[in-house]
Amino acid sequence: MNDDVRLCERCKAAIPPERVEALPDTYLCTTCSKAVGGDFEVTVVPDNMSKGGSIKKNYGGWSIQKKRRTIRPVEGTQAAEERGAGPKETP
Ligand SMILES: [Zn+2]
Repeated sequence: MNDDVRLCERCKAAIPPERVEALPDTYLCTTCSKAVGGDFEVTVVPDNMSKGGSIKKNYGGWSIQKKRRTIRPVEGTQAAEERGAGPKETP
């Protein structure tokens, strides 16, 4: 299991094996995960909306949608920040 070293998609650093073990889906090192907000974009959506136009509260359940975040190499992010665009989330 020692050659199970994964490199971060963003900064190409080795991802700590403990992180890979805990999050087998991860493509990011701990630092980049914090910087971009994690591997996944998580959205909570209501299961059962009221009729259109109704102001009644929604008593339905909630679902969690998880989608893999677009990871850009760290060089691209720095270039964008230098242009004054700042960190930008891609949809
Ligand atoms: Zn990284």
